[in-house]
Amino acid sequence: MTSPPFTRPTWAEVSRTALRSNYRILREQAARADADAVAVIKADAYGHDAVEALSVLIDNGCDWFAVTCLDEALLLQPQLKGHRTLVLSGLFAGEAADTVRHALTPVLGSVEQLAWLAEAVPQSAEPPFALHLEIDTGMARQGIQWNDTAALAAFAAHLAQHPQLLLEAVMTHFASTEDPSSMQTAEQLDRLRIALATLRDRGIAPPLIHAGNSASLFEAAQMAALRDIAQQGGSRLLLRPGIALYGYGPRAAERGLQPVLSWKTRIAALRTIAAGGPVSYNATFRAARPTRIALLPVGYADGYNRLLSNRGEVLVRGHRAPIAGRVTMDQTMIDVTDIADAAINDEVVLLGEQGSDRITADDLATHAGTIAYEVLCAIGTRVPRVWS
Ligand SMILES: *Cc1c(COP(=O)(O)O)cnc(C)c1O
Repeated sequence: MTSPPFTRPTWAEVSRTALRSNYRILREQAARADADAVAVIKADAYGHDAVEALSVLIDNGCDWFAVTCLDEALLLQPQLKGHRTLVLSGLFAGEAADTVRHALTPVLGSVEQLAWLAEAVPQSAEPPFALHLEIDTGMARQGIQWNDTAALAAFAAHLAQHPQLLLEAVMTHFASTEDPSSMQTAEQLDRLRIALATLRDRGIAPPLIHAGNSASLFEAAQMAALRDIAQQGGSRLLLRPGIALYGYGPRAAERGLQPVLSWKTRIAALRTIAAGGPVSYNATFRAARPTRIALLPVGYADGYNRLLSNRGEVLVRGHRAPIAGRVTMDQTMIDVTDIADAAINDEVVLLGEQGSDRITADDLATHAGTIAYEVLCAIGTRVPRVWS
């Protein structure tokens, strides 16, 4: 561990070894479908710190990365330079020049975006500038709708007028991959096939196809279907795992994936309150007995969800201690009555392992009524990330 440049004892420990191991598992899994893995590092690598995550992934041979927007990509220059960077959330007005200057690869979903790009690339550019097209097969989020033949034709026609642009890939995003019982992925795959045929009839044969997130990589039927679609069109397949890189997703442990991040703090103060005594805002906790309360210097401004109030647990000396009362902006109280030797400065695990016990992002998500993705992304910039 590098020596921590912080004094308030609340920090996240992030493991290079775990990230490397997860990446290698995903790359091998992708290779089984003759595919390459794009490492999704949007949202500061799901809250882990994209600068460090990138250096680990680049050292391990990763060449394709995905961020959400130009602003994220610019923050990660010059690390991304010389590698391929997908910008997933389209192209906003005024972004075309920087997108071209930094050789980023935007995922487009409209003729208007295509026109902005065409304007930013000289007609004579060689090789042509690569762009990707998203097909909306069921997310209703972005992209040209799979059955909007007129829009697909207009996109193809506009592209044909701009030899300086290359449609390198057609992609889509699935809505329900983590649920193998859902029929939605099969439906989305059919819709992707139809959109690709519509484009093929208009002379478009993309060198790449990409679809599928972390869950897809471990669903044999999805992988077989994607591989088949790519082969039929003579395209190479890319897959886009995100959460699995960080050790989460369906049955992650079974698949050898390890959580990359732990979140820790220390007991800052201790007090005993009488039976009946209140704790925190609005006295939502009342002591049922004389109760030992420990103060933790972490709160919802650090991303420790307020819905954990009176519901979440932390690990102290290898035991679980419940949160007492409301999580406040900067501080949280826990009940350590049953952990007799709990002392000031004891290390407290909010997320991660201690002794033989473990609290995962999925556990926190369950208590807070959300998903592991949000738990990880929400960990605030005020929490230093300490890599080892
Ligand atoms: C975030 C995202 C992914 C990664 O999804 P995970 O479920 O984290 O693997 C893939 N593709 C797109 C378009 C995304 O927005």
